[in-house]
Amino acid sequence: EAKQHGVGEFRLYNQNYGDDVHSRQQLILDFKTALAEDGLSVVYQPQIDCRTRQISGVEVLVRWIREDGVAVRPDQFIPLAEQQGMIGLVTDFVCRQAIQELKAAKLLGSVLPRVSLNISAMDFNGTESLKRFVCLFADHEVEPSWIQLEITETAVMNNVEGSISALQGLREHGFQISVDDFGTGYSSLSMLRRLPVQELKIDQSFIRDIPHDHNDCSIVRTILAMSAALGLRTVAEGVETDAQAAFLLEHVCTELQGYRFARPMPIADLEAFIATYRAA
Ligand code: C2E
Ligand code: MG
Ligand code: MG
Ligand code: MG
Repeated sequence: EAKQHGVGEFRLYNQNYGDDVHSRQQLILDFKTALAEDGLSVVYQPQIDCRTRQISGVEVLVRWIREDGVAVRPDQFIPLAEQQGMIGLVTDFVCRQAIQELKAAKLLGSVLPRVSLNISAMDFNGTESLKRFVCLFADHEVEPSWIQLEITETAVMNNVEGSISALQGLREHGFQISVDDFGTGYSSLSMLRRLPVQELKIDQSFIRDIPHDHNDCSIVRTILAMSAALGLRTVAEGVETDAQAAFLLEHVCTELQGYRFARPMPIADLEAFIATYRAA
């Protein structure tokens, strides 16, 4: 995982594709091939409950390692998949793959109370998408309450009324909803109150410089107080240091996620991580 974010590989990616039209076409072609030929995989990043210190869930993140071994980052191919109308296929793959792996490892619904999946705004168009999600998980004998769907604050704000009704439909089926990258959008308190969500994920840009940056500390404290008042869980993303974790514990964040605890990892590593973590 560390290597996938390495500067060297990132540069290699840019060399191979660049910004011109031809490179972009190549990227699209490569991605289509990956999607059709098992080129995508998923990794899992544990989340830690601040009160019990137990693993409260995992976030599923998609990975694309090309045949030449180069990792292309989701920040680069997810927007592309959205533009190309292929995001539904990615979401289907990620959801099925994660459920299948977690069930085979006998983790879901027992050791792991919850799995969070990233959902694109385009997965949320009308009643069709609702049916799709319900079927996707019903096929696998999964309790909807084990599933949490993460939708970014920006996606919600781009289509407030549509999002509210789509999220309400998902809620009625028992799915949990989390607002991802919270703080980077522009939602208001009154807006938040109307959203049928259970969790806010504080964007990692606000976590990075706490406890040194006073503005960021104020923002994080405000988000935590507001979430508590609204009865929402809060997950801090990108927690890397003890000092960040200590600040978040002091101000009663409910869950922590980040390299300080665990990096995103494949299912076999997750099984090992959970076994060691529980024993400790
Ligand atoms: P996100 O959902 O906000 O995911 C958090 C990102 O932060 C992940 O990057 C994760 O690997 C990274 N991260 C976790 N802990 C730390 C840390 O302590 N420090 C730092 N610096 N980073 C940390 P990743 O996997 O590259 O994903 C980037 C974004 O791509 C995600 O942001 C999400 O918006 C999108 N994405 C990833 N997987 C999927 C997917 O299956 N479907 C959709 N629609 N989007 C996805
Ligand atoms: Mg996320
Ligand atoms: Mg996020
Ligand atoms: Mg993000």
